[in-house]
Amino acid sequence: MTDKKLPAQLHRDTLAVRAGVERSQYGENSEALYLTSSFVQPDAETARKRFAMEEDGYTYTRVSNPTVSGMEQRLAALEGTEAAIATSSGMAAVLLLGMGLLRAGDHVVCSQSVFGSTLRLFATEFAKFGVTTTFVSQTDVAQWQAALQPNTRLLFAETPTNPLTDICDISALARVAHAGGALLAVDNCFCTPALQRPIEYGADFVIHSGTKYLDGQGRVVAGAICCSQKYVNDVFWPINRTVGMVLSPFNAWVVTKGMETLSLRMKAQCDSALDLANWLQDQPQVARVYYPGLASHPQHALAMRQQSGLGGAVVSFDVRAPDATQARSNAFHVIDSTQVCSITTNLGDTKTTIAHPATTSHGRLTEDQRQAAGIGQGLIRMAVGLDHIDDLKADLLRGLQTLSALK
Ligand SMILES: *Cc1c(COP(=O)(O)O)cnc(C)c1O
Repeated sequence: MTDKKLPAQLHRDTLAVRAGVERSQYGENSEALYLTSSFVQPDAETARKRFAMEEDGYTYTRVSNPTVSGMEQRLAALEGTEAAIATSSGMAAVLLLGMGLLRAGDHVVCSQSVFGSTLRLFATEFAKFGVTTTFVSQTDVAQWQAALQPNTRLLFAETPTNPLTDICDISALARVAHAGGALLAVDNCFCTPALQRPIEYGADFVIHSGTKYLDGQGRVVAGAICCSQKYVNDVFWPINRTVGMVLSPFNAWVVTKGMETLSLRMKAQCDSALDLANWLQDQPQVARVYYPGLASHPQHALAMRQQSGLGGAVVSFDVRAPDATQARSNAFHVIDSTQVCSITTNLGDTKTTIAHPATTSHGRLTEDQRQAAGIGQGLIRMAVGLDHIDDLKADLLRGLQTLSALK
């Protein structure tokens, strides 16, 4: 009623606040929240047509909901994909991807450095249904190529990785996938479309945990797959309306509003992360800093090309120590000396978080697996939020400066 049709070719910043808005008869300026499980039908014949899918119209929120549709359209507009389908969590998006694309006998090639639950989903859960997965190096494209089999259906990557921020070359992986008759999915949780749009580099599917930067304020758990309209309509939506890993309208609304400030937050958090990474490099108690924005990062040039010149907001570093036991107690001391940072493994929040990967996110690995993954006992991961950079430096100094007193 009060809707104007948006012109084509709008900038991403405008789409972040305008895409996916369908106003009700009341003309609200902020997006309405349709917190309802079902929708009243005008008459029995219309209900019949809608259930038979002969006519568009909402029937039940497991099938579709206007608040969720709005979030999907906004995210698709930012990623540059035709469509998106929202899920109840980031992991539900990975599961939906697998349910849609894979069947018994299929093979997957996946980076060995992906999110821990993704690793487990492919290695353990999908294996129960006859889908096999080969895990390969994050950065060595030749290993992906060599792992291809005639039945390889999917390549799955995540870049940058958590916590060491290794970068993979999305274009190179897309070429390997397509030459081998397979599809490429990229988990874009760390960069978000504000920095990196995998579709532009040839990926077929973009996976999101909306829990992280899309919400951006640590409030809800959410997920999505961004891809072509055809894959949403013909493959993913028929499954999700059946299995019900759907996003709640309230969480969809929170993520929709979160996306409005996504690019501003990402820019500010990336700037602080770069500042912090440079500063950490100069601290005598720090042995090594992992951050794609530093010239010393092994894939710095690729990261700058692929991520709009920004390094992301996650910075990891090793505290100096003579052995693993001392490394752990030094890292714990630095973490426990903070008075501002939140001690939590979550990321993508406005509040800066600090974590010890070896005993939390990667605590289920054996010591050998952790060594192979390069995650030592002295490693600390920070997800930089909107706290003032000087307060963050002072927060870390409290622990770093008193380390020598421990020994
Ligand atoms: C958190 C995360 C996920 C899983 O998302 P949930 O919303 O927690 O299910 C997947 N991939 C990456 C890179 C993540 O950081």
